[in-house]
Amino acid sequence: MEFHQSEFEVRLPIGYRDESGKIHRRAFLRKMRGHEEALLYDTSLQGGRLVTELLTGCMVRLGDLAHVDAQILSELYSVDRNYLLLELRRLTLGDRMPATYYCPGCRAPVALTEDLATLAVGRFEGDRVPEDIHLELEDGYVDRQGRRHTAVILTLPRGKDEEFVAPLATRDPLKAQDALMLRCIKKFGDLPHSALEAYGVKILRELTMGDRLRLQESFNGRTPGVDFVRQVQCPSCGVQFEGMLDVSHFFVCG
Ligand SMILES: [Zn+2]
Repeated sequence: MEFHQSEFEVRLPIGYRDESGKIHRRAFLRKMRGHEEALLYDTSLQGGRLVTELLTGCMVRLGDLAHVDAQILSELYSVDRNYLLLELRRLTLGDRMPATYYCPGCRAPVALTEDLATLAVGRFEGDRVPEDIHLELEDGYVDRQGRRHTAVILTLPRGKDEEFVAPLATRDPLKAQDALMLRCIKKFGDLPHSALEAYGVKILRELTMGDRLRLQESFNGRTPGVDFVRQVQCPSCGVQFEGMLDVSHFFVCG
């Protein structure tokens, strides 16, 4: 009898830590089916909510856990969820994917076929868990008493954070980005937590663009996960630039 593989094992970059502290990294996926394809057309599902639903449909097992459900998948770090989307895409539609980048030199579109098997994936080993990110802003935030706050402590975003901001994502992408950042800020100078909760988005808008960029980039390069940055050369003007593969295009066919 011909053996047909229906479950595919992958290894999460960070992993899920259960209540006892045990980390589960072995995940078993099955290919996306019509049920999951239908989710892609469901306009009530956006961003993080769509990702959770897709993964709920396709993850068969996670480590030694008795069951895996939407709640567990929401707890996963975004880094792990993006990695799972990559593997789901590869399993379901193959490694070759059309991608279009825009040249920063001459603005010409550069259409390429990417080989998803060549994306580098960094992974934690053993019982290693992500550490808090400590960042020093250049300009900082000046509160009503005139005190300047520059030291920020951040944690990596998780699925539940993406889900929280999903309804904003299409209506007001910048606000969604700020709301997501806010959920990752554990400490902002000496500001009380209540101030962050009440005026957080306003505080982020008060920051200089340089500081806002520093916050956004603080997640880069410090975490394991898929490196979605691609080196692209523009055939029109010859400029070399970095393009970012967009996870949200993974399941657009054609
Ligand atoms: Zn160009």
